[in-house]
Amino acid sequence: MSASIDPQKLDRLAQVAVRTGVNLQKGQDLIITAPMIALPLVRRIVVHAYQAGAGLVMPFLTDDEITLARYENASDQSFDRAADWFFAGMGQAFQDGAARMAITGDDPMLLSEQDPAKVARVSKANSIAAKPAMTPIVGFEVNWNIVAYPGEAWAARVFPDLPVDEAQGKLMDAIYTASRIDGDDPVANWDAHSAELQKRVDWLNAQKFDALHYTGPGTDLQLGLAEGHIWKGGASPALNGVVCQPNIPTEEVFTCPHAYKVDGTVSATKPLAHQGNVITDIAVRFEAGKIVEATASQGQEQLRALLATDDGASRIGEVALVPHSSPISQSGVLFFNTLFDENASCHIALGQSYADTIEGGSTLSPEELQQKGGNQSLIHVDWMMGSDAVDIDGVSVTGERVPVMRAGEWAF
Ligand code: ZN
Ligand code: ZN
Repeated sequence: MSASIDPQKLDRLAQVAVRTGVNLQKGQDLIITAPMIALPLVRRIVVHAYQAGAGLVMPFLTDDEITLARYENASDQSFDRAADWFFAGMGQAFQDGAARMAITGDDPMLLSEQDPAKVARVSKANSIAAKPAMTPIVGFEVNWNIVAYPGEAWAARVFPDLPVDEAQGKLMDAIYTASRIDGDDPVANWDAHSAELQKRVDWLNAQKFDALHYTGPGTDLQLGLAEGHIWKGGASPALNGVVCQPNIPTEEVFTCPHAYKVDGTVSATKPLAHQGNVITDIAVRFEAGKIVEATASQGQEQLRALLATDDGASRIGEVALVPHSSPISQSGVLFFNTLFDENASCHIALGQSYADTIEGGSTLSPEELQQKGGNQSLIHVDWMMGSDAVDIDGVSVTGERVPVMRAGEWAF
């Protein structure tokens, strides 16, 4: 581990991830997925998990070099393969009550030199195979959490002017501050932050808006909301009853858009790091919920491949509001990592919607969810379209308008 990473900070991050993030219960098993480079954080998480009374903690590690070895050496038919038996096992563990923790932190540009068609095939094969493991997460059936470790390649990307070692230390500090762990009592700070998010959630739920209308540079978007949509944010109970904080950091309140009622244009305000590539200056036009035009100044081919994954990939499944004054946005750091960048800005997500953002959603069939405006796709990719130049109105069923955000800040 880089000497510039403060081991105490790393330990506290692990503690908050276990206690506040996943809120691991006594006797509960924990499945961890992480890049190999995050091993120092994984080890601390394992310690805190067993101290919290974990049954069995099982980490699964991936390695960038091994990932590249496949692209560079495998036969063509390999790129449609995925380890379905592995994901089936993970799905079984969730059914048996296990919790889930994911660690992010690998190289955001890992696959930028690889054939986009192969990258898309691998991603699709993985998404299909991962369904048994992803459905319980998307449906919020189990408590889960995602946190970040400042990997070397990632740090070099975020702070390109610093020596790598220094960059890692600086990224650790940025993760620490963004994750709201820097105070005396991070657990109490998270409770307060969560209560603040809950106030916004309660107001938005009371409004029962029919749509949101966004205006800003390159953006004029009428975004219908799903029938019976529910706003969520901060800590909330998974269906297994455990109150957890899925994302650390989190600054968003979010709900389900109507996959067939989105019209107009929208321009991204930050680059999107997606599966080893960075896509910049995304601009799209929606018609009846579907993206009918899409451009990017860099990564256009990757964007096209992403949108072509399946029918739902060119529709949206999440809409999220984040004030421009959020600490991540104010840090001015562009993380090239969605976990952070999405929490610096209002965003929408291409693809799969969360069943629990529609009233009674977890008991509805996919067809019933779709009727209410939910979306189905193998992908869920958030991209950022908020800034201090974007205004948002809530539109009621009768067409009445209520300011929700002005110049990127809450207007209520
Ligand atoms: Zn989001
Ligand atoms: Zn999302």
